[in-house]
Formats: sequence, structure tokens, C-alpha cells
Amino acid sequence: MTAKIIDGKAAAAELRQKLAERIAARGDKPYLAVVLVGDDPASLIYDRNKQKAALSMGMGCDIYHLPEQTTQAELLELVGKLNEDEKVNGLMVQMPLPAHIDPSAVIESIRPEKDVDGFGPYNAGLLHENDPRAMVAATPKGILYLLQKELPSLAGKHAVIIGRSKIVGRPLSSLLLNCDCTVTVAHSKTQNLPELTRQADILVAACGRPRMVKKDWVKEGATVIDVGINRIDGKLCGDVDFDEVKERAGLITPVPGGVGPMTVAMLLDNTYSAYLKQIDKLK
Ligand code: NAD
Repeated sequence: MTAKIIDGKAAAAELRQKLAERIAARGDKPYLAVVLVGDDPASLIYDRNKQKAALSMGMGCDIYHLPEQTTQAELLELVGKLNEDEKVNGLMVQMPLPAHIDPSAVIESIRPEKDVDGFGPYNAGLLHENDPRAMVAATPKGILYLLQKELPSLAGKHAVIIGRSKIVGRPLSSLLLNCDCTVTVAHSKTQNLPELTRQADILVAACGRPRMVKKDWVKEGATVIDVGINRIDGKLCGDVDFDEVKERAGLITPVPGGVGPMTVAMLLDNTYSAYLKQIDKLK
């Protein structure tokens, strides 16, 4: 069999279009502040893409670009100002930060109601508790959106997630558990990984290992979500060996054009939700 390809680019475009229409119809002006420290070229591209997408949807968005040698105190001062600024509905600090800055201290300093990345302990805790007030990290939220769009039900499905990071694996494990999946989280110390992945109805690869997941790791007809963004000889590829695995999976996301575009769309969705909650509070 050859898998159906899940078109994340089209799903993200549809979602952004719907959001843009809601924003225009209500005359809203949600605003996202993106803080970037240093000149990491990939981060610069990601942030410019977010800004371009936000502006195209009628949102406001600025990139606060600070030099590499910015101290932690200076960064925390800026975050503090943006926390206080009523114009700012969503606030995110681009990771990775330079080595002399503690990322946890910075993430924890963002007000939970503006934490549109959902990386802070308050929102992570709400998600863990299956509390609908949680602001959910954009990548796992985008993955869930694609799964719910493609699969009639998630309840009872065995989901195997490769990767336990704070930005993908962990929040996704909570989201899928909250949808009544049976969840296995694998990581770099997991033994006999292919034996586990072959049991998955839903297999999510988020480990940053180019084309690691092979055809014989996958159950016939499984749904395979590839989160990885890797470069080999300048060409993008995921954590799944797409050409092989598409011959066995039932559904599969490509790289590029799968999970990646959903991440930007969900960040903007979170920003709009944050805006709505904040104006509701002012009423
Ligand atoms: P990370 O480095 O923080 O975490 C990687 C995880 O994979 C760790 O938990 C580690 O234990 C596990 N791992 C590493 N090698 C493994 C192995 N051989 N077997 C099993 N587990 C292994 O990475 P991250 O930030 O979660 O990102 C993962 C990948 O997803 C990267 O390629 C990243 O670029 C990509 N990513 C994509 C998006 C998107 O929007 N598409 C968003 C975030 C991350």
C-alpha cells in the first residue's frame, strides 16, 4: 500500500484563512511580540516567517532583536516591559538562547496569559491536568489538529512518541493521553525501539535524527507524523525515511509541508485566543 499524504501546508493555510476572516470581521488587532537574541540564521528565518504570517492575517507583530551579548538581566527587563504592555497579547522568546542565558528563567518570566508558546510551567501544568485553560505549545497542538482532521477517533489508539522534549514529546504525550490514547514515550535511552514503534497505531517521530524511522519499524496502515527538521547536503528531511515508510503507513506527513506549517498557524491561533481572553477580562 502507499500512504495518503497529510497536507499540513493546506491545513495550515485553511486555518490561517479562517483566523484572518474572524479577525477582519470583528475588527480585532491582536499583537504578538517575538524576542530574538543573537543572529542564529535559522531562528531569524523562523521569526521572520511568523511575523510575515501574522501581518498577512491582520495581526500586529514586531521582532525585538537583541545582540548576542545581551545579558540575562537585560533580557528579563525587556520581557518585564512586554508583560506590562497592554498592547502585547502574545509574547515569545525564540529558543535557543545564547549559552550565558538560562532559558528556564526567561520562560518562567513570561506571564502565563501571554505565554503563546505554552512552554512556561503554569501552562504545562494546566495541560498535564487536562485543564482546557492551558495554552498548548504550537507544534503538538498542530499535530493533534492534523490527527483529529484525518482520524475519526483517537480513543484507544496506541500512540508511540519518539522524543521527550518540553516543546514536542512531553506536551504531545499529555494531549494524546487527554484524548484517551494509550501513550508510550520513547527517548534516547529506550531499549528495542523498533519493537515498540511496530506496535504503534500512531507513530510520532520527534528526535532530530535524520531518516531514523525505517519501513520495518512501522505497522501496516499506521499513521506516521514526522516532526523532524534536519538538513542533509542542504536538503530538508525529517526523522522518518519517507520514501520507504510511505509504502507501509496508512497516513504520513511529509517534510517539508507537514507539521512545520501547522506550528506557525497554531502560534497565531494561540495569540488570537490570548487576545480574546485578555479583552474579555477588561470588559
Ligand atoms: P530535542 O533535541 O530537544 O529532543 C530530542 C528528543 O529525542 C530527546 O528527548 C531524546 O531523548 C530523543 N532522542 C534523540 N535521539 C534518539 C534516538 N536515537 N532514539 C530515540 N530517541 C532519541 O529536540 P526537539 O526540540 O524536540 O526537536 C525534535 C526534532 O523536531 C528536531 O528535528 C527539530 O528540528 C524538530 N522540530 C520541528 C518543529 C516543527 O515545527 N516541525 C518544531 C520543533 C522541533
